[in-house]
Amino acid sequence: MRCPFCHNPDSRVIDSREADEGATTRRRRSCPACGRRFTTVEEAVLAVVKRSGVSEPFNRSKVVAGVRRACQGRPVDEDQLQQLAQQVEDAIRASGVAEVPSHEVGLAILRPLRELDEVAYLRFASVYRAFTSVEDFEKEITELRARHHTGGTPPLPGMQLDPPAPRRRGGRTQPAPPGT
Ligand SMILES: [Zn+2]
Repeated sequence: MRCPFCHNPDSRVIDSREADEGATTRRRRSCPACGRRFTTVEEAVLAVVKRSGVSEPFNRSKVVAGVRRACQGRPVDEDQLQQLAQQVEDAIRASGVAEVPSHEVGLAILRPLRELDEVAYLRFASVYRAFTSVEDFEKEITELRARHHTGGTPPLPGMQLDPPAPRRRGGRTQPAPPGT
């Protein structure tokens, strides 16, 4: 690591410790040329690959900025935005790949945003999925409605959606046919 003071190309690690619950490693370094000390922080890179092929480090504040635009005028506060960005980062890290295509970041935003605010979700989805017609909105709204009906989670296979028909109490209620 190059010394930030004298630009000597080499430095010596004098201490190394984990920080942020193991997410980063901080190293205390000393420059053999000028004797000054500095700290470096090492973190595994989570890269986002854009459609152009250019990759850049995943940036939570970019997620927040994009979602904030969709949330304009909606009852969503800064804490919720930060929380959502954290959820997105967690989801991407959990995927286990070091380089994610940018459209997957968009996908990872859609799910928690739908839970947070459906209007903001529709706005975001319309841009992200490039809605071109009213039909695109209709389809998305139909899906949102379907979620409301099923309580958000699709039924498990074999699960009964309707409660069983109530059993008639007291056996037969019809009068016996004449002649018996
Ligand atoms: Zn130096």
